[in-house]
Amino acid sequence: MNDLAPVIAADKAHVWHHMMQHKPFETSDPRIIVEGKGAHVWDAAGRRFLDAVSGGVWTVNVGYGRTSIADAVRDQLVRMNYFAQAAGSIPAALFAERITAKMPGLSRVYYGTSGSEANEKVFKMVRQISARHHGGGKSKILYRERDYHGTTLGTLAACGQPERAAQYGPFPDGFVEVPHCLEYRAQWDDPDYGRRAADAIEEVILREGPETVGLLCLEPVTAGGGVIVPPAGYWDRVQEICRRYDILLHIDEVVCGLGRTGEWFGYQHFGIQPDFVTMAKGVASGYAAIALTVTTEAVFERFKDEADPLAHFRDISTFGGCTAGPAAALENMRIIEEENLLENTRAMGARLMANLRALQSRHAVIGDVRGLGLFQGVELVADRATRHPAEERLVARVVAECAAEGVIIGMTNRSLPGMNNTLCLSPPLIVTEEDIDTITAAIDTALSRVFGGAGA
Ligand code: PMP
Repeated sequence: MNDLAPVIAADKAHVWHHMMQHKPFETSDPRIIVEGKGAHVWDAAGRRFLDAVSGGVWTVNVGYGRTSIADAVRDQLVRMNYFAQAAGSIPAALFAERITAKMPGLSRVYYGTSGSEANEKVFKMVRQISARHHGGGKSKILYRERDYHGTTLGTLAACGQPERAAQYGPFPDGFVEVPHCLEYRAQWDDPDYGRRAADAIEEVILREGPETVGLLCLEPVTAGGGVIVPPAGYWDRVQEICRRYDILLHIDEVVCGLGRTGEWFGYQHFGIQPDFVTMAKGVASGYAAIALTVTTEAVFERFKDEADPLAHFRDISTFGGCTAGPAAALENMRIIEEENLLENTRAMGARLMANLRALQSRHAVIGDVRGLGLFQGVELVADRATRHPAEERLVARVVAECAAEGVIIGMTNRSLPGMNNTLCLSPPLIVTEEDIDTITAAIDTALSRVFGGAGA
């Protein structure tokens, strides 16, 4: 490895890292990742890590060092790098066709460059439909406690993680929270918990007035808010409620999209039919910036009226016209198909879950293990009986000890007061059995170091 001291000095002098407190960097160095291959990355000191969070934020689904994606992007860029998406491009057209073929009932793709942006587009479409078709009614947007949809003021207005939104208000009006559905942290004593949690959404709709509510925005599996898979019965009831009150259903697949859960999309495990699906991270696995807002022909049709200058969607994303994104996305999708990565995700996800459950039987600090495919969470508790959450400081130490063992794992977003106690695992979809066992062995060691021997 080259001597990267000047790079580290430049970073420390000039880079403002995302989501980081910088005080510790006065006496330590940031982690600078300089190389990646498969499921592994190397830092500036030459240390090799197995990346169990796919680029830190569950993004690099097909793994690192994919020369075929780099080649596809290069070929496209030298041919035609950019033109505003008011026109069109070859890869944008082809990818829109390929991706909607995986999503029965959905047919229209609006391109952007980040998950936040893709979600903002939905909110703006709903507001425009409200203004034009409901006389200003049906403008409210419901979001769920613990869910996250982005970092802009609009998406933070729809943030179910209080510490993320704190300090950034005032926000746009008309965003209303519905309760979370994590059964391990049950809010109702009901054996039919999924149905009960969905009933809580209906209660909010009736309180607000169904004529005021236009959209329900949900993560299929809540990511940074604790890796929450809604309980059985939840989604059927959600769909029924949306239909009954004529509320559009928006599934935020920014994390789950493109295979993370073992299906193309998280919502496809649950047999539901959304009106909007947004996606970003796994679409091009981080090889280029790309995000999609996908919707139905019925929604699209509402924006057609040549006679009215205000009818069309008055929105643009400058870099939504970059061709690198869809070029990378086409190749990314080809890899997922050719290498059977959905199947691998299901098989390796099952192994990861079994390994984690075995750890749970030996470490009392593990309160709950949950997830879908290669997207799993391990909730740590100070006391299994009371389910009192483990201290955030100790959970962060487990993450650090795993890194010392050569495995990068994550934890909940540090944005739920007192509840940042879940380890997050989302390795690239290419992982092998050996990788899975390496991840769980590192967690085993880390838990023993931080909380005492196994069984502590
Ligand atoms: N939705 C979800 C579910 C997310 O997890 C994230 C990012 N972590 C976003 C939206 C926002 O995506 P971006 O950071 O690309 O704006």
